[in-house]
Amino acid sequence: MADNKRPVSARTRIVHGGRPKEGQTRPVNQPVVRASTVLYENMGTFRSLRQRRAAGERVFAYGTGGTPTAFALEDVIADIEGGYRTKLAGSGLLAIALAFQAYLRPGDHVLITDGTYEPVRRLVEVWAKPFGIEHTFFPADGSGIEPLIRPNTRMIYTEVPGSLLFEMQDLPAIVRLARSRGIMVVVDNTWGSGWLYKPLALGADVSIIAGTKHIVGHADVLLGTVTTTEAAWKPLDTMAGAHGVCISPDDAYLALRGVRSMPVRLPVHQATALEVCKWLRSRREVRNVFYPALPSHPGHEIWKRDFSGACGLFSIELNTDQAGADRFIDGLSLFGIGASWGGFESLVVPGNLPAARTVADWRGRGAVVRLHVGLEDPADLIADIEGALRRIG
Ligand SMILES: *Cc1c(COP(=O)(O)O)cnc(C)c1O
Repeated sequence: MADNKRPVSARTRIVHGGRPKEGQTRPVNQPVVRASTVLYENMGTFRSLRQRRAAGERVFAYGTGGTPTAFALEDVIADIEGGYRTKLAGSGLLAIALAFQAYLRPGDHVLITDGTYEPVRRLVEVWAKPFGIEHTFFPADGSGIEPLIRPNTRMIYTEVPGSLLFEMQDLPAIVRLARSRGIMVVVDNTWGSGWLYKPLALGADVSIIAGTKHIVGHADVLLGTVTTTEAAWKPLDTMAGAHGVCISPDDAYLALRGVRSMPVRLPVHQATALEVCKWLRSRREVRNVFYPALPSHPGHEIWKRDFSGACGLFSIELNTDQAGADRFIDGLSLFGIGASWGGFESLVVPGNLPAARTVADWRGRGAVVRLHVGLEDPADLIADIEGALRRIG
């Protein structure tokens, strides 16, 4: 094969990255390498590999340190995130927990967005608090952070856009504020998944993706990725190594298969979501549509500035209570009732806003329903939603 050194675009690299390059003949895909034990040729190799691993180099030395299949996935994610290196974890939530453990110590304080993926609230209650790490939630639109900063604030943990209501944040402004105080910025980048949004390029130190969603894309693998700048890498690598955080090669293989098509899936999700959202805005049963790509969304200008696109995940506020929302959800047939999102298939879940927000006051508002539009025909999805809206009564 010719070796053309012309640099290629990210879209091309996502197709070619992490694939076998050696051998007169070779498979298209990086094979599944199953290994707990890794065998060494002789003691010289054993000692030198152990030494290189201790020095922080990524080597195939034992299963928990990663297999060639996992390494290939790490390389693809690090590339799309524009980071130094990537760690893989068994779920998105575990990836978040790993980042907290890597950078927070007893006595530290962390500022967390009110728009956080809800289980993070349990993580700080169950893990951070008992270990003497304090937290404060800040408004999901990123306003009012400065007065909440304490002398011991070590991290601003945010998610852009926020879960359920998709509030936007001016990340470069948050980074400027954090930098001047020596505070690190960690971002949950699942909605953009490294393709639509690049937190590290905007100045964040760490970007986390629940690969379970768009990267895997087929609702059949759990995956978390943590990608950092070079300066932030070592504590993460050390903590992951101390815990033996790793993923199975089969899951890495499936995630590699999924990520290849992410750049062509996302624009379809976006086009369908826009069509469905615009239609929803014309319905009297719908009080609000929360989708950053809609010009009516409060964070639309920031989205236009910082994102290169949108995905298929949005929420609606219905002019009804929870019982009415349940009738709406039960009236859908093309949307499966289920957590998670980002796969090829449409999904729906009720949003429990009073539990999911502690800074914002959601009392007296309508029931919120989160929808993920898959790769189905938008006309069919709209017809399905229209029938379900009639069931509200
Ligand atoms: C789903 C999700 C997670 C957690 O991912 P899991 O792999 O399900 O643990 C984290 N953050 C966001 C924004 C998510 O949507």
